[in-house]
Amino acid sequence: MTLHPLEGHEDARAAVLRAFLAGHLPSVLLLHGPTGVGKQRFALWIGQLLLCEQLQPSGPCGGCHACILALRVEHPDLHWYFPVPRPPARGSPERDQEALEEVRSERLAQRRETPLRPSYSDEVQGLHFATIRNLRREASRRPGMGPRRLFLVADAEALVAQESAQEAANALLKVLEEPPTDTWFVLTASEPGRLLPTVRSRASPLYLPPLPVTRVREFLRREWSGAGEAEIEKAAELSGGAIGRALGFLKDGEDEGPLERTRQEAFFLLRAALDPEAAGRFSRALEFDPFGARSLHEILTLLETWMRDLAAVAAGAETPILNVGAREWLSRTAGERDLHALPLARAVQVVEAARERAAGNVNPQLIVAHLLLELNDALVNRTGRVLAASQSEVS
Ligand SMILES: [Zn+2]
Repeated sequence: MTLHPLEGHEDARAAVLRAFLAGHLPSVLLLHGPTGVGKQRFALWIGQLLLCEQLQPSGPCGGCHACILALRVEHPDLHWYFPVPRPPARGSPERDQEALEEVRSERLAQRRETPLRPSYSDEVQGLHFATIRNLRREASRRPGMGPRRLFLVADAEALVAQESAQEAANALLKVLEEPPTDTWFVLTASEPGRLLPTVRSRASPLYLPPLPVTRVREFLRREWSGAGEAEIEKAAELSGGAIGRALGFLKDGEDEGPLERTRQEAFFLLRAALDPEAAGRFSRALEFDPFGARSLHEILTLLETWMRDLAAVAAGAETPILNVGAREWLSRTAGERDLHALPLARAVQVVEAARERAAGNVNPQLIVAHLLLELNDALVNRTGRVLAASQSEVS
């Protein structure tokens, strides 16, 4: 398997190419932009650019030995680090480091085998101290084929999500401060604000914006032959201009994609919010785990798309919606429940507040119970909140 072609980001490509040809490409770059927008794919393209043996005015040639190896992610001077789940401890730091390297090479093999994957994970993952130590050791060696090397550190925010964060960040910082000659580092982050300031200040930022939805759609038609047109249409609309997100809405063999499952959960939340019976709402809330509020983030994001669509349909039949295919349900529901655009738009703020609580690690069951109560109050009861709350508890 080889990597799929890099889609979009022409301005950023031109800027990197120009800087490289002028000898000014910063040795530490931070690619930031929405999840799934193609940051890691872009970083691998930079790697190909650095390594290509017959560089063209438009970029890497795509046909030389170095390009072919880079496109297979098998070039010895293209190093790809990313967060992985922590393997069970093996009893000594050296053996733990070995275990992490084994996990990374397994995952790397999967990435080579299936280069197009949804940008989604429900695992707890980190860029562990031992991994960064390994990166430093690798960086101190001589290039494999030469003359240049690239180290990609993907989802660099994951440095802070674990207990040895400071150690790992310091280790990374040391190598970023004095990069070996002819060695480039590219970090990627969808939430650069969560990076440690010392790491962030060391890197030159480059923003990768969302792609136009039409580009996402064209890409899926070309590269994902298994999907039907309606499925592609829906995935592109919901993607927010990020191919990696779009992939999460497409079927994975017989199974629904992970984001499609989440979108359906969000739909059931909306239905529960509109349920006049409090019992249904509470049982829905209790289905959530009492821990791990961050995983709620995605459900709430997708609940927002449902509410915005409901508001759009309530405002006028022809307004564009994201959950294409659900228009009939949306307009029937808006009609039957006598829902209007303005209160619906206001109710979106209730969801946004819940998302903030989820970021603060509040018990998800409480967040959802509170959210459903408030939404129900705004959209169904349309009375004072306290009154509605006390009635729900009695019934
Ligand atoms: Zn080439």
